[in-house]
Amino acid sequence: MKASDLKLEELVEFSEGHVNLHGRRLVVHDLRAFAHLRKELIELAGPNDARRVLTRFGFLWGQVDAAAMKRLFEWDDVTELLRAGSRLHALQGVARTSIQTLEVDEKTGRFDMTLIWHDSGEAEEHLTEIGPTDSPVCWMLAGYASGYATFCMGRDIYFIEKTCKAQGDLACMALGRDKESWGEELTPYLPYFDPAHEMVDKVKELTDMLRQKDRELAQQRRQLLLLERRAKVLPVEVHSASYARVLEMANRVAPFDTSVLITGESGVGKEVLARQIHKMSGRAEGPFVAVNCGALPETLLEGELFGYRAGAFTGATRDRVGIFEEAQKGTILLDEIGDTSPSTQLKLLRVLQEREIVRLGENKPRKIDVRLIAATHRAIPQMVKEGTFREDLFYRLAVVEIRIPPLRERREDILPLARHFIQKMARKLKLSPLRLDATCLNYLQNYSWPGNIRELENAIERAAVFSLDGLIVPEYLPPAIVHDPAVRARASDSPLRSLQDMENEHIRAVLELSGNNRARAASILGISAATLWRKLKAMGRDGGMN
Ligand SMILES: [Zn+2]
Repeated sequence: MKASDLKLEELVEFSEGHVNLHGRRLVVHDLRAFAHLRKELIELAGPNDARRVLTRFGFLWGQVDAAAMKRLFEWDDVTELLRAGSRLHALQGVARTSIQTLEVDEKTGRFDMTLIWHDSGEAEEHLTEIGPTDSPVCWMLAGYASGYATFCMGRDIYFIEKTCKAQGDLACMALGRDKESWGEELTPYLPYFDPAHEMVDKVKELTDMLRQKDRELAQQRRQLLLLERRAKVLPVEVHSASYARVLEMANRVAPFDTSVLITGESGVGKEVLARQIHKMSGRAEGPFVAVNCGALPETLLEGELFGYRAGAFTGATRDRVGIFEEAQKGTILLDEIGDTSPSTQLKLLRVLQEREIVRLGENKPRKIDVRLIAATHRAIPQMVKEGTFREDLFYRLAVVEIRIPPLRERREDILPLARHFIQKMARKLKLSPLRLDATCLNYLQNYSWPGNIRELENAIERAAVFSLDGLIVPEYLPPAIVHDPAVRARASDSPLRSLQDMENEHIRAVLELSGNNRARAASILGISAATLWRKLKAMGRDGGMN
């Protein structure tokens, strides 16, 4: 069979929804749409990568067509198969092609072909969408011819367009040769025929980079969210790992209605943490009510918790709503839960089991919807062993237990807390500026703080009151801190001194601070004026009162 025998109507079958070329499905494109695509591709990927994509597209198209031609028909020789490609391309409307020269040596593999593309659709596309150029633009045509010939010859054949209508020539003309025949001249064109490995690699690299950035961004977003949530409820920056763990647990447990037992020494900030849990929970808009179970006798506490009817007990003059009802849709903190009586413990257990309360002097149960947080400085498990705390209540309360370490176990937090309290006192006492002298730092840092954060706050308040020009120096700190031998030893490296020496020094300091007002000094020292007088006399000072 000869290429000239190919007839469009015999090759292509048109039916609704399908255009078939002997079983291969074709799609008819509008040239204008393709022109737009070419323009966008050039803008998106740059002219080199656009050229590479279109050349590769043509090349694959040419190979597929060659395979079909070879499979469908018996050809007289390979040149007829080659000619059939040009004919087929023309039949598909891409360009009317004429073959100027065709020399094939199947033994040596030498290949030489000259094609003329009249009315190249590609040149037309380029001219309408992009305008005249200074180099040939029929990239798909050259790709097609190359792919087709490469398939027929079973070796790499490259077509390079030499003249092009898009650059003002009369027609587009391309030369096709095997790699050896091209020699050096081919080198700059080779990348366009590459299966775009480079570009694929580049895209892959960029994709990987984007994914990595995405991951980093997501991580940063999570951290930011966490920080924002903490910043909302945390007035002080946290330095210690142990308190960071406390906060992490609080963060985790906050969104759930789980009962939490907060343990830790007095003054470590159990109520502060309970408030934080409340603020980070879904109940944040609801009330937070705290009650100190250790401060009230049994009947009063129960009345406080559950409410009562007038006359329920002596002193109950009118109906009262208890804090379980007050805290509806919110959180209730039962502080010093370890101090509750067996009777109150039993009532609390029922509340937790039934989720309802009965006011004292009533029989009517009332539904409650509160989250319960309990706190204690006592060792409840020990109390359970001794039989002074109900085991069942303990397990109900301590679904999650958070232990706040004492301040001495997290010394990194002392200074941030001190600075926080200084700001607080400056506002409260209207003392501005109020600041901490550097000489105080060692004292604060080395003291054991048995009263924890509450003691620290009180110490700062005391020092703030005494500071005359807004500068807190060690002398204004409570004597317990400044005269603590351990602190002194660490803070000033001074040799240990006797109790008497320290007392004398302290008395002198207080006298100085009180402007030598002995009545005031005695009151600060917590001793009577007479005792101060005696001590001063012993110190060898003038014992006269003023
Ligand atoms: Zn051209």
